[in-house]
Amino acid sequence: MNARPRRDPREKMTPARLAGKELVQGNEALAVFTVQPLEGEVPAFEAGQFTRLAWEWEGEVEQRTYSIASAPEQTDAMEFYIVDTRLGLGTSHLFSFPLETPLWIAKPVGKFTFSKHWAPHLALVGSGTGVAPYVGMVRHLVDEAKAGRRTPQAVSVWHGVRSSIELGYREEFEALEREAPFPFYYMPCVSRHHDEPDFDREKVNRGRVNEILAKTLGLAVSDDPRGIEFAERIDPEALRASLPDSEDSLILLCGNPAMIDAFEGVADGTSWADRTVYERWW
Ligand SMILES: Cc1cc2nc3c(=O)[nH]c(=O)nc-3n(C[C@H](O)[C@H](O)[C@H](O)COP(=O)(O)OP(=O)(O)OC[C@H]3O[C@@H](n4cnc5c(N)ncnc54)[C@H](O)[C@@H]3O)c2cc1C
Repeated sequence: MNARPRRDPREKMTPARLAGKELVQGNEALAVFTVQPLEGEVPAFEAGQFTRLAWEWEGEVEQRTYSIASAPEQTDAMEFYIVDTRLGLGTSHLFSFPLETPLWIAKPVGKFTFSKHWAPHLALVGSGTGVAPYVGMVRHLVDEAKAGRRTPQAVSVWHGVRSSIELGYREEFEALEREAPFPFYYMPCVSRHHDEPDFDREKVNRGRVNEILAKTLGLAVSDDPRGIEFAERIDPEALRASLPDSEDSLILLCGNPAMIDAFEGVADGTSWADRTVYERWW
């Protein structure tokens, strides 16, 4: 019996091009990519979903999954926030491509969305590029607020990274906190702050994101609690009030499974265990 030739996955995908690649704070392995369809609009999606990007590499089709960092209201292009871990090979291709390289976008999928997960008080917690879906979700909420539609009573974005130069989207989140189209808290958390002589203690929290969150909620912290410090600008009481211990609160966690497992561990057996939703990336 003849084996059927494998179908090219690109047949069902939207042809596009690499329209932008912007390194984050000069970081060679961390970038915001813009991918634009060759014709028409990007495939429809909900804020928080992910898709596959495909490209050709040495005669083969390669595909990787990335969260969409743009809001669905932006229909001319999609944005992605991507780190080149250099663990595998696929994502490294993307970093090597010049602008205009042909790419293909799959139909977006994923349940990490407001239609599945909504509460008056939302904490959006991500490590590294795990903040990507929240960029799209928060941009969507800004559009909703502008249109006079429903937004949560309080939203916080908790972004955990090792060093401050990995705080992608920092300016955008800080501006949103100032402008506050809805009550918004930005919680950047840096774990290796000891290595930074000019560390910004005023604005950036010291410690792992799951530990800072646990400390805020009054849960056990597993690290040395002395190494876990709020940024000087933070009012812990106001922050706690943005996430009351009630059915009105929901925590979304995305990215590094170790971060998610660590928070799951301290939330286990507490009222927060049923109020957390996870998206693990590997
Ligand atoms: C639902 C979903 C959404 C994703 N969204 C994004 C995104 O928005 N931005 C982004 O940068 N990546 C995202 N990823 C990860 C991405 O799909 C790739 O797995 C990653 O870029 C590694 O690709 P690679 O070709 O280098 O290695 P691969 O050959 O794909 O994998 C190599 C190994 O690295 C592991 N791995 C994957 N990502 C990481 C990481 N960050 N740190 C450590 N180990 C890792 C994989 O499990 C695997 O064991 C997402 C993954 C999933 C499942």
